Amino acid sequence: MTGLYIHIPFCVSRCSYCDFYRVTAAEWGDRGAFLRTLDREFKRLPSSFSPETVFIGGGTPTVLEPYELERLLQSIHDSIDMRRVVEFSCEANPGTLTVEKLAVMRGGGIDRISMGVQSFNPSALQLLGRIHDAGEAIKSYELIREAGFTKVNLDLIQSVPGMSRDDMLADLEMVARLKPEHLSSYNLIYEGGTPMQADLEAGRLIAPDEDVEADSYYLMKERLEQLGYEQYEISNFALAGQACLHNILYWEGGDYFGCGPSAHSHWGGARFGNVSDLHQYCFLLERDQPPFLEVERLDAAAKARELLVMQLRMLKGVDLEAFYRQSGFRVEALCGDALTLYIDEGLLRMEGGRLQLTSPALFISNSVFSAFV
Ligand code: SF4
Repeated sequence: MTGLYIHIPFCVSRCSYCDFYRVTAAEWGDRGAFLRTLDREFKRLPSSFSPETVFIGGGTPTVLEPYELERLLQSIHDSIDMRRVVEFSCEANPGTLTVEKLAVMRGGGIDRISMGVQSFNPSALQLLGRIHDAGEAIKSYELIREAGFTKVNLDLIQSVPGMSRDDMLADLEMVARLKPEHLSSYNLIYEGGTPMQADLEAGRLIAPDEDVEADSYYLMKERLEQLGYEQYEISNFALAGQACLHNILYWEGGDYFGCGPSAHSHWGGARFGNVSDLHQYCFLLERDQPPFLEVERLDAAAKARELLVMQLRMLKGVDLEAFYRQSGFRVEALCGDALTLYIDEGLLRMEGGRLQLTSPALFISNSVFSAFV
């Protein structure tokens, strides 16, 4: 599979935990100039490029006005061969969606909406610096359904300081009521340079204990499974047949191009990341230069290890023969002692030609992966 990611770097304001590249209206007013530049980047893609999945993310793509969304979608369809696309997702945030915007999105071929709700709990939303309350999130969800979208993902954040186990379960009861097809549920990460990390370091915030986080994770997993969601990746759950194909493309080590500032590409064994600066991004493309500064080529073993870790994120695990064909490496030769150790400790399982994380390993997957890369 091949995919296209498009980064729209605008947000209404900055959430306290976020380290994605984004700018506010006060920092960059001329969105038209950005859309013209993005169109230039689309036109630089190989003419043979024909993605199967497209994902418009950000930032907040839905801060764009209806006429800007229309222009973006027109530019995508004019520049890129969309005939093989099987999934076309767009991120949205509560507080930025309207009936008009959703109609434009549907009309432009988007068939999946991924909405960043993060929580329905008022204290958590305030701490995370979100611009919306739970009522707006529910209203936005209803607008998405009324517009006819049948594939909806909700993003939730777990382990927000102050959130109890009951608060987490209350969020899941709202999920049970709304019935999205897909749910992504990540633990809060204190990214360097964010206000939330500064609060943590200064002692103004206290992160939950790791054992409490782990209990909460397995309780969430159990409740979502009761609700009919299948866990197909460490942090992702879906109703039958509703897994996100674009994310699976990343986890299976597929090829993709990323357009927009800070977007990354992985194509034909090379990796390159666009500059994370809107001024520089526009400057380079306006002069017909590529919007990235370096192309990285990992050596074959490093690439194989990276692929192994990505594939292990999925609960179905790694098909060992397919991995050998794709990477040229046997997992045993690549990981040797660490593999034996983790199998002995019950954190990895090798059965029926597959290597998988066991359930106890899911919450501590990063420490398992650190031995492989
Ligand atoms: S809306 Fe999303 S991208 Fe924008 S600041 Fe908040 S978390 Fe970051």
